[in-house]
Amino acid sequence: MNSYKLLTPGPLTTTETVKQVMLKDRCTWDDDYKTVTQTIRKQLLELAQVKETDYTTVLMQGSGSFVVESVLTTAIGDEDKVLIITNGAYGERIVDMAKVLKLQHTVYSVPYHEQPSPLQVKTLLENDSTITHVAVVHCETTTGILNPISEIGDVVKGLNKTFIVDAMSSFGGVPMDVSVMGIDYLISSANKCIQGVPGFGFVIAKIEDLEKCKGQARSVALDLYNQWEVMEVDGKWRFTSPTHVVAAFAKAIEELVEEGGVRARHERYATNNRILRARLQELGFNAYISEDLQSPIITTFLFPYEGFSFEHFYHAMKEAGFVIYPGKLTDMDTFRIGNIGDIHEDHMNTLCKVIENYMAVMKK
Ligand SMILES: *Cc1c(COP(=O)(O)O)cnc(C)c1O
Repeated sequence: MNSYKLLTPGPLTTTETVKQVMLKDRCTWDDDYKTVTQTIRKQLLELAQVKETDYTTVLMQGSGSFVVESVLTTAIGDEDKVLIITNGAYGERIVDMAKVLKLQHTVYSVPYHEQPSPLQVKTLLENDSTITHVAVVHCETTTGILNPISEIGDVVKGLNKTFIVDAMSSFGGVPMDVSVMGIDYLISSANKCIQGVPGFGFVIAKIEDLEKCKGQARSVALDLYNQWEVMEVDGKWRFTSPTHVVAAFAKAIEELVEEGGVRARHERYATNNRILRARLQELGFNAYISEDLQSPIITTFLFPYEGFSFEHFYHAMKEAGFVIYPGKLTDMDTFRIGNIGDIHEDHMNTLCKVIENYMAVMKK
C-alpha cells in the first residue's frame, strides 16, 4: 500500500479513520443507514450557517460535475436565461453543460488571473432583463483564484435573480454564510474540503426556489427535485446510494467538527498555503495568482527556469512521497500544488525541503 500525500484538488489525502469506516457493508433500506443520510443533510446546513426552514440539502450520486449538471437542468427552465461567469475551466464546463442542455445563456468571461467584477455583473443584468439566473465558481481550481461571491451575491439578490455557486473546492475549507451571501444553490462534493472519498456530491438549496422546479429537469437520473422529494421522506436515496462513501463522509464531518469546524480547517489550509507560497517564492517559483486573490486551497506555479521538466520534478516529488498536479493553462507552462486534505504544516515543511534539495541538485 502506498502512503503518498496527495497534494491535489481531490480526491485528496484522507485520514486512516475515514478510510476504516468503509470496511463494513451497509444496507440502504436499513434505518441506521437512513439516519446517517439524514444526519449528514442536517450537518451540512449547519456548516453552511443556514436555517432548516429556509434551506435543504440534497445528496446526489456521481462526481462533482454530475451535481452541477443536476442543478442546471433542474433549476433553469426553458423560459429562463442564465448568466455564466467564467475565469477558468470549471466555469467553462458550466457553459458546456448549458449548451448541451440547450439552456438560454450568456457568458461573462474574464482572464484566468483576474476576478470577475461585481459592477460588471450588475451592468450585464441591468442591460438584459431576460436573465433569471447567475452561475459562478467560488474557488476556480484551474488556477486557485478565489472569486468575490459575496459581492456578486449582493448584486444578484439586489436584482432578484437566482444565484448558483459551484463551491466544490472551497466549501468546508472557507467559512461561508450561505444565506448572507445570497446563494440559492451551493454545490460541493464529498471528496474536497470535507475530506471524504469520491462518490457523491451535495446541493444546499433554498427551499423556496427548489419547490418551483418540479418536472423541469431534462434528465431522470439528474433530477434534483425528484431526488429531494424521495430523500425528504425518510433519508432513503432514490437510486443505489454509495453506502461506503456516505459512511466515510459521515466520519469526515465528525472529524471536521472535532478539528474546530470550518474556521479551524480554514486556518490550517491557509497556513499550509502561506508556507508553500513563501518558501517556493524563495526557491524561484512564482505563483500565477497574486497573493490577494489566492485561495487557501491550491496554487498554480510557473516553471522556475528554462528547460524545467515537470515530468522529472513530478517523479522526484513522488519518490519523496508527494503527488503534485499538472497545470491547466493552455498558454503558459505551469503546475499546481494543492494543500487541502489531511495535510498539515509539517508535511508542507517537508515538501518545501524536498523541493529545496531538488533545486540545489538541478542548479549544479
Ligand atoms: C472538483 C471540481 C468540480 C467537479 O469536478 P469532478 O471531476 O466532476 O469531481 C467542479 N468544480 C470545481 C471548481 C472543482 O474544483
